[in-house]
Amino acid sequence: RTAADEVNALLASYPDFPQDGILFRDLNPVFANAQAFKSIIDALVTRFSGTFDAVAGIEARGFLLAAAIGYAADAAVLAVRKGGKLPGTVLTEEYDLEYGSARLELEVGQLPAGSRVLIVDDVLATGGTIAATARLIERAGYVLTGVGVVLELAELDGRSRLGDADVHTIVSV
Ligand code: IMP
Repeated sequence: RTAADEVNALLASYPDFPQDGILFRDLNPVFANAQAFKSIIDALVTRFSGTFDAVAGIEARGFLLAAAIGYAADAAVLAVRKGGKLPGTVLTEEYDLEYGSARLELEVGQLPAGSRVLIVDDVLATGGTIAATARLIERAGYVLTGVGVVLELAELDGRSRLGDADVHTIVSV
């Protein structure tokens, strides 16, 4: 089965979570299936092969993807965290979520200037989270070379907020 087949087979949907009117997509069953997890990691590593020096995972499910992709691709791993969790000199971006608002942060000086960075996360919804992460990557002096996501909620048109980034999603619903 392809990575898309695995995601389509295992994806769960929860109406009215975490708020009324939101159809929450749960990818944990994909992560919890060894064959499916390997398949999505391999698909993203293959798609972006040779294009990145580091992979930036967005807290929290993006961390799971970034760790595996970094290991498989011999790439460095960056943790983009929710506000207030990182020490030292950090860059901060505020942004609106599909529900509520949030803050993301990145420690400065972890990679050489000009390093090529792939951003990964589980779900692309409105695109606010990945757009904020892209700003952090660029403000830190790196070059955003790609965005890899497992599931895209196409009706929210998050792609339109990501400029001309090379965006790849395994499944679009
Ligand atoms: P966006 O900023 O609206 O694109 O939302 C993306 C962020 O919110 C990602 O970090 C996702 O993990 C999370 N998110 C938004 N919608 C869902 C969903 O339906 N299921 C799981 N995570 C979601």
